[in-house]
Amino acid sequence: MQLISKINYDLTFEPFFTGFTFNGKEVISFTAAKSIKNISLNSAELIIKKCYLIKDGKTIHTKFSMNEKDEDLFILFEKNLKGKMKLCIEFSGVLNDRLLGFYRSQYKDQSGKTKYLATTQFEAADARRAFPCWDEPAVKATFDVSLLIDKKLTAISNMPEKSKSTSGSKTLVEFERSPVMSTYLLYLGVGEFEYLETKLRNINIRVITTKGKKNKGKLSLDLTKKFLAEYEKYFGIKYPLPKLDMLAIPDFAAGAMENWGAITFRETILLYDVKTSSTRTKQYIAEVISHELAHQWFGNLVTMKWWNDLWLNESFATFMATKIVDRFYPEWDYWDQFLDDAMNTAMNLDALKTSHSIDVTVNHPSEIREIFDSISYDKGGCILRMLEHFVGEKKFQTGLKKYLVKHQYDNAEGRDLWNAIGTVSKQPIDKMMKTWINQVGFPLLEVARKGSILSMKQSRFLLEDIKHSKKGIWSIPLVIEEGSQRNRKLMTKKSEKVKLQNKDRNFVINSGRTGFYRVQYDNNTLENLSLLIDEKTLNHIDRWSLQNDYFAQILSGKKSVHGYLDFISAYYDEDNYISSLSLAHNLYSLYIISNKEKFSDEIRQYAINFLGTIFDRLGWKKTKNESHTDALLRSFAIIGMGKLGDRKIISDAEAHFKRYLKDPKSLPADLQEAVFSLVAWNGNEITHKKFIMLFRKADSQEEKLRFLGAMCSFKQKKLLLKTLNFTLGPDVRSQNIQLPIMRITSNIYGKEFMWPWLKNNWKKIIKKAGIGNPLLKRVVDSIGHVVDSKQEKDVRKFFKNNPVRGTEMTLEQTLERVRIHSKFLISLKKEFA
Ligand SMILES: [Zn+2]
Repeated sequence: MQLISKINYDLTFEPFFTGFTFNGKEVISFTAAKSIKNISLNSAELIIKKCYLIKDGKTIHTKFSMNEKDEDLFILFEKNLKGKMKLCIEFSGVLNDRLLGFYRSQYKDQSGKTKYLATTQFEAADARRAFPCWDEPAVKATFDVSLLIDKKLTAISNMPEKSKSTSGSKTLVEFERSPVMSTYLLYLGVGEFEYLETKLRNINIRVITTKGKKNKGKLSLDLTKKFLAEYEKYFGIKYPLPKLDMLAIPDFAAGAMENWGAITFRETILLYDVKTSSTRTKQYIAEVISHELAHQWFGNLVTMKWWNDLWLNESFATFMATKIVDRFYPEWDYWDQFLDDAMNTAMNLDALKTSHSIDVTVNHPSEIREIFDSISYDKGGCILRMLEHFVGEKKFQTGLKKYLVKHQYDNAEGRDLWNAIGTVSKQPIDKMMKTWINQVGFPLLEVARKGSILSMKQSRFLLEDIKHSKKGIWSIPLVIEEGSQRNRKLMTKKSEKVKLQNKDRNFVINSGRTGFYRVQYDNNTLENLSLLIDEKTLNHIDRWSLQNDYFAQILSGKKSVHGYLDFISAYYDEDNYISSLSLAHNLYSLYIISNKEKFSDEIRQYAINFLGTIFDRLGWKKTKNESHTDALLRSFAIIGMGKLGDRKIISDAEAHFKRYLKDPKSLPADLQEAVFSLVAWNGNEITHKKFIMLFRKADSQEEKLRFLGAMCSFKQKKLLLKTLNFTLGPDVRSQNIQLPIMRITSNIYGKEFMWPWLKNNWKKIIKKAGIGNPLLKRVVDSIGHVVDSKQEKDVRKFFKNNPVRGTEMTLEQTLERVRIHSKFLISLKKEFA
């Protein structure tokens, strides 16, 4: 039995846009099961003005004290109390500009006038910055929200308006009571909004923007309606709220946030313009909308008990996002893209000694921020995909439904989900999943064939080859494909032997890369498989997978680069998207790593040959029957070829740019990034000025970012420094501060000066981003591109003197990557000596 239960928050907020503060009043009704004399609430950055209790109609006085460090408001009653009571608190706070809690966002309206709106971001632990509360996911409550606002403004919360009354210059908007939910999902929004709307049954769906932008919300409105209906079907549970708002917020730290019934997005992820938006933007909009809608059930209706199960929310939404998008856009090959994107990113991170297990202990709020990473989102998503393939789609879905129905309006743990799927599938899911969720890393499966006998051995795959760290046994759902036959087996031991059906036939393990592990075949088998690649009788995912596994093994020092370069000759006429992209990407990164070395020309030639074949096939112009992914691959090939020094492509890009300056419609959105970055690559001070002008003139965030990206592609130090100064200035939003830094650290011409620049400007970066901004993790991560292992001490010293809470693990991961790259470069030099 819980000590405190039946909690309702009756909240009234009054935000002020002059002075950027807010007043708040709350009445927390609850029942205490036992007699209590004090209570602790989470509270931070608030001034408490009054605090008293009402019990049986009588006022009870209190003494209260704030502990800012622990973000704790301690309230002592004048006597012991039990049963139903009301805690009344009056407080005030600041509408901050740090993109968390109750904060302000600044933008310019169509006439160029500066405007503000107030909005909230409470996940993970920032509701306490807006009102004193039990700010933990497991302490669910109902909410009655009221907003007292200037009568010209509009107020939004999770629920529909219940009533509205105006007196003088102010309007009081009261919202209907919310269902039982966690504090991190509450939403408050006040501003000059406009919207598009539609209906699904009786559910009112709106896309809400600042004035003048609603027409860019058409695609999102349409996708929201379609996806919401599909989720209802998939889960077998109706969307439980009477309305759903999708809000485009000019300043927003994350990509989007799943507040129940009032989902917030960056403008670039909700607004779409047929004329200026790219194919990639369209995909991303669909994916993020799908992700946030999945949370309306998984996360909002059923919530994790504590943040150690955050992955459960995020992995699930990541997995479902792709599943639902794929149903509506099968031509996007979105599961393929998931592999080269989510799985690849997750495996690269999880191959580090300094990675963490999916289920991880978290205590302080800054630790929660730290685990919003590729392990929680991508690896978790891959593990769920593996589980779905293991038990079958139908049983997986039935298990999920059971789980959601059982725990709705309540909290649950990972184990509850495994039990539900285990019961339906009659498999030991809990035991199997433990090896993937509670254990860091993933296995490398070494496979050797002798006639019809396969010997298999598993060990942890690490990029840094350290013997004692390779411990671990995973329950691996094996799929062994021999021709049209598929054998399934759950491997639970360190090493096992399996008999093949036929001693001569070829076989593939982990076909379709359904399992989260890498495979290393014996040389003979690999040679046979390379013949199948050559003939393209092997399916495209397996072609992608074999090359992808091979490349990871050269980085870990297990295989030679020459061996890899020989192997990939089998891909000479590869035309599949992810297979081509991954190979081109790997060759290009080999070139970058070896850039200053004598032998880099040899590697460059491989990259040019491969990218050139892709470009020859696709050309500049979109053809009528080309596939959706060709547009994505074309842009990559053009940028690659241009940066590898192809004169013709650069002069073509310059011609396109000239025409674009006269007539922006002449250049399709999908080619803009490629053209702009090559023009910058070959450009000078005048070109840089042009991009600044274009940036200032552009009216969508998407276009602005495209121009800012181009400004990071120059070769001249002077111009790159100009871009960085521009970034720290007023033109670039704090939410985008990490982008130019990441771009310029990846630019080979940024390598020399970026680390000293970062050190010299660190205080300005922190000031602009705001303490606690999760994007600082990306900035720390990018340092790995511009230092070598000799500078490790210097980097450590710097962060010891300038600690950034919530980036400690990222720093260790970055430094490990630096060591791996330095070692790799040494072995590369030996190999090519
Ligand atoms: Zn999410």
